[in-house]
Amino acid sequence: MGNNEQTSGSKGPNPKQLNPMALALAEAEAAAARGEVPVGAVIVDEKGIVLAQAGNRTLELKDPTAHAELLVIRQAAAKRDSERLIGCDLYVTLEPCTMCAGAISFARFRRLYYAAADEKGGGVDHGVRFFSQATCHHRPEVYGGLSEEPARALLQRFFAERRE
Ligand SMILES: [Zn+2]
Repeated sequence: MGNNEQTSGSKGPNPKQLNPMALALAEAEAAAARGEVPVGAVIVDEKGIVLAQAGNRTLELKDPTAHAELLVIRQAAAKRDSERLIGCDLYVTLEPCTMCAGAISFARFRRLYYAAADEKGGGVDHGVRFFSQATCHHRPEVYGGLSEEPARALLQRFFAERRE
């Protein structure tokens, strides 16, 4: 579009004060400290207020569905007392998997921002490309690559340490 692009690396309209992706990265770091795959997620409502934040807890909860995205969706839906999060935006440090992409569609998010792409496990811009399928009835606006570097570095460090 115009040539007044910001150099901060942010894409799309910026929620006011705090940077939700920085919060999501902090949640990813906390997940790594717990031995969980370092992925963090944050939900912001239409006013820019943080409704929920979480990191992966699949090991701790012994729940294969306890991905950061599903944890924040459950928190935010409970807070709003609604199964739909219309007008809300989801920030996550890794491209969502197919399961989470499905949940993101069902929750009717306005926008999805993710940091690192996931060529092996992603379901948004890789794999089944869930939002592009005819069976997907709500598609959020998707912005990938926001704060990609720190999110990717965190994942790489985590898996490198596990291989040692
Ligand atoms: Zn997932």
